[in-house]
Amino acid sequence: MEIKKIAKIFTPPAPHMVGDGFRVHNFFPGGYHIDMNPFFLMDYGSKINFSARKNPRGVGMHPHRGFETVTIAYSGAVAHHDSAGNCGVIYPGDVQWMTAASGVLHKEYHETQYSLQGGPFQMVQLWVNLPAKDKMSKPKYQAIKHSEMAYIDLPNQAGKIELIAGNYQGVKANANTFSPIHVYHARLNKGGKAHFSFPENFNTGFMVIEGAIKVNGSEKADVNHFVYFENTGTAIEIEALDNSIVLVLSGEPINEPIAHYGPFLMNTEAEINQAIADYNQGKFGYLDE
Ligand code: MN
Repeated sequence: MEIKKIAKIFTPPAPHMVGDGFRVHNFFPGGYHIDMNPFFLMDYGSKINFSARKNPRGVGMHPHRGFETVTIAYSGAVAHHDSAGNCGVIYPGDVQWMTAASGVLHKEYHETQYSLQGGPFQMVQLWVNLPAKDKMSKPKYQAIKHSEMAYIDLPNQAGKIELIAGNYQGVKANANTFSPIHVYHARLNKGGKAHFSFPENFNTGFMVIEGAIKVNGSEKADVNHFVYFENTGTAIEIEALDNSIVLVLSGEPINEPIAHYGPFLMNTEAEINQAIADYNQGKFGYLDE
């Protein structure tokens, strides 16, 4: 198998606040103009300490249409409410997979107990595009608890691969996706190695959440860095230089036009205008502010 070479290792772009609860580094599409299609956006909230507060920080009611938001908590806890009637809290290791599709209103904020205590907070939010045929399907919500996640123990006490989406060495993840994508956590012990194989055309990147790794036996990627791969070769090896957590992303590009405006991700300008009109006319449902 040919090695999938590193295109570039990216440092975290300057952070910005989403609402008052999420301090994020937007690696793409804003920070770096890389092709991670079907992953449209990655906001990475590197670890920071929030002070204790009675009223939870967060981002108030806002719409989405045409894609999925995938939120992963690493420290702290995130709560969510949406107009499709779904709500939930994710704790470290848990994933919230929300398919906005035809449209939801939601709000995202710090969970009450966490907010009262304060402390370290670290998370990721991905926007996963939907194929045109699924953009106006019914919204849905998948809560993927860390304790229920499929995983594989790696040989030689190297650690484990937890499956959030897709499959790894014959084991399938619980989450259903609309196009072929793989999302894993590699939780590796110092010195542990993991191997991956993704098709050449799959856009692939690894986010170092904790620790540090050596990739393909040569280049080192530190915590908070994103390793972006070329579209040649298939095989990747990582070795943990410390106890490490790596978010692994790989997906088949959706080869359809993209029209993006704010919280809407469609195929044409006309569909964006329709989304704005539908939102203004209250067609995304109702949610308390
Ligand atoms: Mn949102």
